Amino acid sequence: MTILIAGGGIAGLTLGLTLHQIGVPFRIYESAAEIRPLGVGINLQPNAVRELFDLGLEDHLERIGVRTKMLGFYSKFGKTIWEEPRGMDAGYAWPQYSVHRGELQVMLHDVLTERAGPGCIVTGARAVGFENTENGADLLLENGERVEGSMVIAADGIHSALRAQMYPDEGEPIWNGRILWRATTPAKDYFGGGAMVMIGHDHLRLVAYPISDPDPESGVATINWIAEKQFNLDDAWRKEDWNLQADIDSFLPLFRDWKFGWIDAPELISGAEAVYEYPLVDRDPLPQWTFGRVTLMGDAAHPTYPVGSNGASQAIIDARVIGARLLEHGQTPAALQAYESQIRPITTAVGLANRKGGGPDAVLQRVEDLCGGHFDDISEVIPHEDLAAHAAKYKSIAGFSIEELNAKPPIIPPSATR
Ligand SMILES: Cc1cc2nc3c(=O)[nH]c(=O)nc-3n(C[C@H](O)[C@H](O)[C@H](O)COP(=O)(O)OP(=O)(O)OC[C@H]3O[C@@H](n4cnc5c(N)ncnc54)[C@H](O)[C@@H]3O)c2cc1C
Repeated sequence: MTILIAGGGIAGLTLGLTLHQIGVPFRIYESAAEIRPLGVGINLQPNAVRELFDLGLEDHLERIGVRTKMLGFYSKFGKTIWEEPRGMDAGYAWPQYSVHRGELQVMLHDVLTERAGPGCIVTGARAVGFENTENGADLLLENGERVEGSMVIAADGIHSALRAQMYPDEGEPIWNGRILWRATTPAKDYFGGGAMVMIGHDHLRLVAYPISDPDPESGVATINWIAEKQFNLDDAWRKEDWNLQADIDSFLPLFRDWKFGWIDAPELISGAEAVYEYPLVDRDPLPQWTFGRVTLMGDAAHPTYPVGSNGASQAIIDARVIGARLLEHGQTPAALQAYESQIRPITTAVGLANRKGGGPDAVLQRVEDLCGGHFDDISEVIPHEDLAAHAAKYKSIAGFSIEELNAKPPIIPPSATR
């Protein structure tokens, strides 16, 4: 009774670790020939960090991640709109981490193969479809192989082949006109370290956060940054590819004047070794993820704009909830239905909030609209209580409000783990 997982990204690997932890046989089929540390920075919210700690990865995270201590929003003139503590500084019982996505993926892979043996992941194996059978579900691979399993879980990302089988008319991800340029640069850390900053507005923006601790002597850290610009929707479509390299000169001039003492955008952008270009895309929320003994998770289920820093975190939560519902219902379609009933409404709300300006970053455009980013006292533009309420609302929608999370019992009871 082996559970077959398509995709060995953050979602698939965390599911593998969870199934191993609760003693359920599984195998991951990953299309890449090997797991390589691709991508740039991502954030792990305290709700997801709690789950990784419950998987025994506390020391590993401490080694590869930086504790995020503060999130701040600034106008295009570098003026402070809103700053809030994050992670344990905000009162969570678990930290928030900024990590390199590739290092996280490699760490999860290495720990999983150490614990469950190298045979638990088959690389160079592209899933192309699934079939529900009388007592289980089969995974169909590109090489013509049919693998028999007890159930199939699609963790194959935004271009999920299994989702495409469920929804053959869905087409490509939906572009909202924004292009992201993503990179890391060694640069002087700012605000005492661990600070994630969002500067600008919907049409031009810079997001930055360190993914390494600063060197004690020089103060230089690896700063992850994302520069964003809004284009016309009828501009040429650029196919999304996480590894497409961009030309710095095509956007550097836009940020020429963004030098605020604590951060110097032109210097940050010019100092990058390689910049990757990615269109901001998502997909419409789906009415159903589970078909018999097959379901979707992670970006295959709910790809959304990364404005609230919770794509990877949600993939981790999905994995843990699947594990919990399997414990409750056994390897049955009811377990997958119960997982979907719990998670789909949350990710639908988050995806729509991110689209409709309900994300935490929405204050940037609001300030731009109200005063063009010029102000002496932000409370004369937007009352402090409004800013605080907006920040709290998103955390609640996304499932990481401080009091609720701290009070929640673990998703997987320690008594169920081996
Ligand atoms: C190469 C890469 C770089 C990324 N870089 C960033 C980044 O810099 N910043 C950011 O915010 N997010 C990035 N992401 C996305 C981010 O990892 C996800 O949004 C989030 O972590 C959810 O993870 P996931 O496992 O659902 O999806 P993903 O992380 O996309 O993982 C999906 C996995 O499935 C594999 N796969 C795809 N199709 C098939 C198939 N048909 N059969 C078998 N396996 C398949 C992929 O190779 C991948 O390993 C990146 C994703 C990838 C794949």
